[in-house]
Amino acid sequence: MHSPGHRFQAQDRFPARDRFAAGVQYVAGRFGEGTSGRTHAVVDPSTGEEILRYELAGTDDVDRAVAAARAAFPGWSGGTPGERSDALHRFASVLADRADELARAESLQCGKPLKLTREFDVPGTVDNAAFFAGAARHLQGQSAGEYSGDHTSYVRREPIGVVGSIAPWNYPLQMAAWKVLPAIAAGNTIVLKPAELTPFTSLLFAEAATEAGIPDGVVNVVTGAGRDAGEHLVSHPDVAMTSFTGSTAVGRRVAELATATVKRLHLELGGKAPFVVFDDADLEAAVHGAVAGALINTGQDCTAATRAYVQRPLYEEFVERTAELMAGVRLGDPFAPGTDLGPLVSHAQRDRVAAFVDRARAYARVVTGGEAPGGDLAKGAYYRPTLVAGAAQDSEIVQAEIFGPVLVVLPFDSDDEGIRLANDTPYGLAASAWSRDVYRANRATREIKAGCVWVNDHIPIISEMPHGGYKASGFGKDMSAYSFEEYTQIKHVMFDNTAVARKDWHRTIFGDR
Ligand code: NAD
Repeated sequence: MHSPGHRFQAQDRFPARDRFAAGVQYVAGRFGEGTSGRTHAVVDPSTGEEILRYELAGTDDVDRAVAAARAAFPGWSGGTPGERSDALHRFASVLADRADELARAESLQCGKPLKLTREFDVPGTVDNAAFFAGAARHLQGQSAGEYSGDHTSYVRREPIGVVGSIAPWNYPLQMAAWKVLPAIAAGNTIVLKPAELTPFTSLLFAEAATEAGIPDGVVNVVTGAGRDAGEHLVSHPDVAMTSFTGSTAVGRRVAELATATVKRLHLELGGKAPFVVFDDADLEAAVHGAVAGALINTGQDCTAATRAYVQRPLYEEFVERTAELMAGVRLGDPFAPGTDLGPLVSHAQRDRVAAFVDRARAYARVVTGGEAPGGDLAKGAYYRPTLVAGAAQDSEIVQAEIFGPVLVVLPFDSDDEGIRLANDTPYGLAASAWSRDVYRANRATREIKAGCVWVNDHIPIISEMPHGGYKASGFGKDMSAYSFEEYTQIKHVMFDNTAVARKDWHRTIFGDR
């Protein structure tokens, strides 16, 4: 914990504030105000102080942004892959030059410790831009060939048009990168709606695209509420595809609206990742992995370790050591060098997390945490790292996505049982298996139903590999070459090679020959 003397002045914490003097909408390469008539305040979750009040985007602003993206589409999609690749390389380099500004803005609006944004959010974003710069030149498909003896067939991989993307507040910068980069690398143009709580880094990201020479209108940002700006973007007739990351509940609504207008749909939804520790695991590695994997981004990570299943012989020691490690994690000001864990994104989110834990007290044991800290941190949206034991598999704390620094731990006996319990929630985004036996670990990777299974680690992601869910965690992949499947459409082109007027197959129409 840090004394108030360590607190940074608002201006130091947010040197980018002046950039938003004109508003927090970014359409056709310019900042502007929303026109919904309703305002929203971005609040520093570490203090509860208002940082910036802005006017939310309304449906007219969405219309303007979609029109700008539509106008930019022919030029952008008509360029060569090499030209788009060059632009994305420049984009990566502008993002790298602006790393410090991006890290500070992300830390301020989300409450993430600066070491996290500097070492994870921002470098990950720069690496994604560099990856998609290369990937833009590697759109792959089936090779052309004479699959029918009389024809030559080939596949064109074409952009879809204007993409409408909606992002959550937990990783605003990386979500902007995951949505925008594959979309524009493939030749689409985009309108991104960040979460109302956390608009700054999506806007700085879009501004960096302009600075890199990406034409106006290719990347647009509308900052509005989900109900009006979000739904209007999903339903918009000029938007060809919806890419959504957020909760499963909102994802269902988005799916209904997108289906009504027959759009391509990509859904990255909630998670409740299991963390399965077999009895031959390296316990030291497992407890460190569990604490880091559960607390990353204050637990507001869709792949965070949330359910630890520990085989009976290791269970007691796992609980004890995990609780001890959790209690030593330093909560504090996100901008102070000695801080490990920041607040949650908002006081409302903190209260939601606390309510889950409070309800669980009726049927489970809170081993450590389970409260907000007092003292200097009392004004912020902080919550202590929390370990819950003794809950039943079908209880709320085991089944529901909490999205906070809360890990629940359960014992299991046989390997079959461990894998069965791991699969026993509606979600299937990510999981990890901990074992030194290659056969056991390999079995877990095959049988756990999730879009990502780590072995002896939990959390790392890389630009080259896909991220996306199974089951109620959604469908479609972010990052990697697989995201081109989402952001391109495949056209079969077939040439006749015979040059004859009366083709064989015409006899189905022209009588018996
Ligand atoms: P949320 O679903 O409440 O909101 C996500 C976005 O949807 C926001 O921009 C919001 O304004 C918008 N929205 C809300 N209602 C809408 C509507 N009716 N129509 C259109 N848009 C609407 O989620 P959140 O609370 O911002 O984020 C947390 C959730 O995101 C968690 O469930 C988490 O698991 C999920 N998430 C998933 C991934 C993934 O890759 N699978 C990544 C990050 C977060």
